[in-house]
Amino acid sequence: MHIIHHKKELTGLLKERKKPGDIVGFVPTMGALHQGHLSLIHQAKREADLVVVSIFVNPTQFDNSSDLEKYPRGLPQDKAFLEEADDDIILFAPQTEEIYGSDPKTETFDFGPVATVMEGASRKGHFDGVGTVLKHLFEIIAPDKAFFGEKDYQQLLIVKRLVELLNLPIEVVGCPIDRQKNGLARSSRNKRLTAEQQEEAAFIYQSLQKARSSFHKSTPQEIRAAIEQDFKDNPHFKLDYFEIANADNLQKVVAFDSNKKYRAFIAAGIGEVRLIDNIALN
Ligand code: AMP
Repeated sequence: MHIIHHKKELTGLLKERKKPGDIVGFVPTMGALHQGHLSLIHQAKREADLVVVSIFVNPTQFDNSSDLEKYPRGLPQDKAFLEEADDDIILFAPQTEEIYGSDPKTETFDFGPVATVMEGASRKGHFDGVGTVLKHLFEIIAPDKAFFGEKDYQQLLIVKRLVELLNLPIEVVGCPIDRQKNGLARSSRNKRLTAEQQEEAAFIYQSLQKARSSFHKSTPQEIRAAIEQDFKDNPHFKLDYFEIANADNLQKVVAFDSNKKYRAFIAAGIGEVRLIDNIALN
């Protein structure tokens, strides 16, 4: 496995390794790698000739400095995890200065209505930070395909919009959510949960499944009210939002239309940890 910290070294290596017609696949991550990241890397390996995985905890996408500080980090463990999984990967792990210089600045983007709801409403500036770092990384790596998890479904739509806005020749590929046995979506943040909290956190996926099974029987308002009540009754969780939205534009749904695709979304806190998850309803 190639481990690279500097962008010049990375562009040099890609130039050397990329043959005419080769597809460069890119999997951006913030590290603390787990099986969910690996499912993206496997998909990238199937669809690309060269795969670059980045590990970079991007300061500009955190609206809360304590969340940034507490974000789990461990490059040595991540390297070992990747090496064991697949050693034919190019790992790019830059320092903050390598991406931003001495002063990380956030660019603003016109992502439209997909950016103003849910995570966009709860975490001010978050998606501009995501857009800023990806703009830098896309420029350095120039991938043909970039792989993102449906775990962060709103982010996936934002990245599609970013690529459109910047007019980049990159195909953005959405990958399915990888879950623990109990249904909890894998996340780097799960490392901050106790074993007991990991079990309690299965409640998020159970709620999403309940929403899906109510889809044909209830109105969006009825489903929202039932799930919100379930969270009120659960002493372990503080619900940030439960939303049912159109899967294409993330706008809140008042009445279901059989021709459209819908998803349910949850953000909730357990202890000090904020978790997000979502599910396709049809
Ligand atoms: P992160 O390191 O949390 O920024 O995630 C990096 C990429 O991995 C993002 O595209 C995430 O959506 C994706 N990802 C994280 N967890 C999962 C999961 N459980 N299943 C699928 N994709 C995931």
